[in-house]
Amino acid sequence: MNRRKFLQNTALSGLGLSVGATALANDLKPDNQNMDMNPDNYPLVIATWHVPNATKKAWETLENGGSALDAVEKGCNAEEEDLANNSVGYGGRPDRDGHVTLDACLMDDKGNYGSVVFMQNIVHAISVARKVMEETPHVLLAGKGAEEFAVSQGFKRMNLLTDSAKKDWEEWKIKSEYKPIINIENHDTIGMLAMDKDGNLSGGCTTSGLAYKMHGRVGDSPIIGSGLFVDNEVGAATATGLGEEVLKTVGSFLIVELMRQGRSPQQACEEAVNRIMKKQPNRQDFQVGYIAVNKKGEIGAYSIHKGFSYQLYQNGKNENIKPGFYLDGK
Ligand code: ASP
Repeated sequence: MNRRKFLQNTALSGLGLSVGATALANDLKPDNQNMDMNPDNYPLVIATWHVPNATKKAWETLENGGSALDAVEKGCNAEEEDLANNSVGYGGRPDRDGHVTLDACLMDDKGNYGSVVFMQNIVHAISVARKVMEETPHVLLAGKGAEEFAVSQGFKRMNLLTDSAKKDWEEWKIKSEYKPIINIENHDTIGMLAMDKDGNLSGGCTTSGLAYKMHGRVGDSPIIGSGLFVDNEVGAATATGLGEEVLKTVGSFLIVELMRQGRSPQQACEEAVNRIMKKQPNRQDFQVGYIAVNKKGEIGAYSIHKGFSYQLYQNGKNENIKPGFYLDGK
């Protein structure tokens, strides 16, 4: 190669490199620079299942000047206290040994996260998760340690097993069929995402987990990236359903990363369900549902089975909406 050719080649590859580097730099721009925000769409609150009281509470919290994090905490508290909800907090179904064990987490717009897993005797698990986030150098506390920490923070111990949940459990014990029940039609774990008037996002998730699970079992709901993920530059997602499947595919993180790459919240939720079903082509006896919101305040939701719904409080309207589902027409 003569010197002229060598210089030409070097110049060209240099050019290639610099074009490539510019493209890369564009890709690596903070994602909110690539996403126009749309203030017509927020504030908003979205939650898994039919939970109008919870979204109302969250919406009111935003209206009274609370942050998105305050909104999800208060909204989730409403379900934790609600005896009619058999999958969250007080009135939650016990594990197969008769213990109500709670999992919860929340995440704010700065990427802070707090979580409790396998905690007993304290109704407001999501508020304890917030204390873990704000008052300790840790992100996750489990079991007795979480309960003792809660008490040290002023939470009161109480028996979470109601008479009616106990009666159902006693009936279940007659056969003791170890087949954790996943609600396909009814409301379940609450996962909630809120966007404040400035478009800042937070999320929370709280549950008593699968009914009659093994003692010690923890699902996706309190695990960052699985039951919940928030990235204030991109969007947020949360899950409900069979936690084992959500954990294996890190569903909520997957949805946020797909949105980062340009998918709409709807496309991202569908892809996360597809990933699960690709690995389980012959298993259709479980439900998973996702909801997501991006930085523009656009919404997505999708599940495996019919029966999943989400509650959306936006533009002053509190609505329950049934999204599309994977098994439709299959
Ligand atoms: N995802 C929860 C868990 O696996 C259960 C649910 O959403 O019903 O613990």
